[in-house]
Amino acid sequence: MKVADTVATMREALRLVNRPLGFVPTMGGLHEGHLALIRRAQRENSTLAASIFVNPAQFGPQDDFSTYPRDMTSDLAILEDEGVDLAFTPSTGEMYPDGFDTRVEVGALSDCLEGKSRPGHFRGVATVVCKLLSIVRPDRAYFGRKDLQQTVVVKRMTADLNLGAEVVVTPTVREPDGLAFSSRNAYLNPKERAAAAVLHLALRTAARLRGEGVADPRRIREEMEKLIAREPLAAVDYVSVADPESLEELDTIDGPAVASLAVWIGKTRLIDNLSI
Ligand code: AMP
Repeated sequence: MKVADTVATMREALRLVNRPLGFVPTMGGLHEGHLALIRRAQRENSTLAASIFVNPAQFGPQDDFSTYPRDMTSDLAILEDEGVDLAFTPSTGEMYPDGFDTRVEVGALSDCLEGKSRPGHFRGVATVVCKLLSIVRPDRAYFGRKDLQQTVVVKRMTADLNLGAEVVVTPTVREPDGLAFSSRNAYLNPKERAAAAVLHLALRTAARLRGEGVADPRRIREEMEKLIAREPLAAVDYVSVADPESLEELDTIDGPAVASLAVWIGKTRLIDNLSI
């Protein structure tokens, strides 16, 4: 595996690779969710690139940028084991050198849900993904459904800015009790880890109600909130029943719908979603 930590060495390493080129951007802290993306990209492409970059621009001032799990040595060993051909591991200064003054802003899709709770988050995401796709120029870029709004924002931006990569979205990988794998799960103590199962329970409740014919999203949101309220270590940030493409909250469900939520478990904020 070739490891490049500058844009110039990454570009040089990419010059003669066999196409199609698959690319998996990550912030490290690698887990089974990342591995599913990497394995899918491995199967579908002749060359596989991945990046590890904890992007300061997508963290708010109160967010966990300084404590975000970082273990470059172990992450690189995992990428190597998985057969990644090229790992891009830029420093913050390499991605945002002195004088950097351009941001990518995706409109309405960035304002709701995560964007409402974390103002500026998707400007940071869109900016870094735009830069990464411009540097790597993959044929396909892989993103997890766990971050549903991110996939919608990235697809919009990639189309709008003609970045030329196919955006592939892969299913959420979960622990046996339904908790979605996330680098942030490492923050949870054993009691919090047990309590965190409430996210998936709430999503399953939403799916069950919908399956029983409930078409009123208010009723579904209420039941999700009630269930989470019964878990003392959990506090709801938002629950949503929305259109999976426009991400607008639904007044009534008469087609595809996605339930999503952000929940604090102690000091850790977790998100998840499920089609219902
Ligand atoms: P991150 O390192 O958290 O920025 O995630 C890198 C990529 O992995 C993103 O496209 C995420 O959506 C995806 N991802 C994270 N967790 C999971 C999971 N549990 N299942 C599937 N994909 C995931």
